[in-house]
Amino acid sequence: MESTVSTSSEQIIELFRQYVIPNYGRFPVALARGEAAYVWDVEGNRYLDFFPGWGCNLLGHCPPTVVEAVCDQVARLIHVPNTWYTEAQGLWAKALSERSFGGQAFFCNSGTEANEAAIKLARLHTPAKRYKIITFSGGFHGRTLGSTTATAQPKYHEGLGPLVAGFVYAPFGDLEAVERLIDDETAAIMVEPIQGEGGVVLPPDDFLPGLRRLADENELLLIFDEVQTGCGRTGEWFAYQYFKVQPDVMTLAKTICGGIAGAAMLTTAQIAPSLRPGMHAATFGGNPIAARAGIAMLETIDRENLLEHAKKLSRVFRERLDQLAGESELIEEVRIAGLMIGVQLSIEGAPLVKACMDRRLLINCTHGTVLRLLPPMTLTENQVHEGCDILADAIKQHGGS
Ligand SMILES: *Cc1c(COP(=O)(O)O)cnc(C)c1O
Repeated sequence: MESTVSTSSEQIIELFRQYVIPNYGRFPVALARGEAAYVWDVEGNRYLDFFPGWGCNLLGHCPPTVVEAVCDQVARLIHVPNTWYTEAQGLWAKALSERSFGGQAFFCNSGTEANEAAIKLARLHTPAKRYKIITFSGGFHGRTLGSTTATAQPKYHEGLGPLVAGFVYAPFGDLEAVERLIDDETAAIMVEPIQGEGGVVLPPDDFLPGLRRLADENELLLIFDEVQTGCGRTGEWFAYQYFKVQPDVMTLAKTICGGIAGAAMLTTAQIAPSLRPGMHAATFGGNPIAARAGIAMLETIDRENLLEHAKKLSRVFRERLDQLAGESELIEEVRIAGLMIGVQLSIEGAPLVKACMDRRLLINCTHGTVLRLLPPMTLTENQVHEGCDILADAIKQHGGS
């Protein structure tokens, strides 16, 4: 857009002041262009992005294969409703199925919608009196009312009540608490294999296998919310493969289309018919543009061997961040699964995010004290070092070593 050349961040921020509902905290920077690991603001400053697209851009900014697929599709057929078949949606479902547990897909547009589909499926699939869903404190499942209720964090519930009935909460990692909550009205257990927004919290070793066992013993559906962990983020296609525990239902969004909006719920062919015609829908779900982007994303990861590359990058991050932790009392713990990275601080993280931004590195802070990196799997090793050098410098300036 040529018009952005003469526009300043300040002018754009003024538009927001007047015309955009202020429900987000935003950095005072307007971004204009991205390429791989870098993004530029309208003033032309370049940032190294270790949190591109809130973790959605797993292939980095504007990955050429996704751009090409979208440009080709947008000129061919933008949208048709789900009363028709399109080859793109069918091939997208096949591509996801072949890389996971061989099931079937329902497509929608966001993570919260995929979770709503899973909630409905759980209630429809189990006997009528079963409606309760067990979720976990510190979890995050999205912002529609069902998913908000599933999100067991009081700060997201304030002022919204009454919430949706039928959600009960257990501490993350506590199998005995789950067992105590299960009764003859329980339909499902819904969990993030790794809590993302909750601070990149890894499950204790016995936790996911234990949930699988409890679900089997009590005929419950085990739902994995892989909106943040899915599609290659952990160095495996899905976190359930990383932990070797298979769910009955899996939800995907964020990374699924390489940065284009899209989402899916996958389940086995045996459970899938319970989401019978008329019970659920998404007008834009599985549209040809999202489908082509989604296929391009998966095929690019295969063709460029990016799962292996992500594992290699993960080891470099591990080495660098462990070293940093050894040098700085501000770092309490480093939690890593593939390219999902949390740095537990002993102080608030926001000033460090700001210090990194001043040094042209973009990262995130979640849960107050956890620096979160969701870097693209297309980084070079040099870029990992470039970013870690900046982070080390920012921490040092905060008296951290
Ligand atoms: C981001 C996220 C969601 C919500 O996704 P939206 O696309 O914002 O609706 C749900 N679950 C998890 C685990 C997430 O990280």
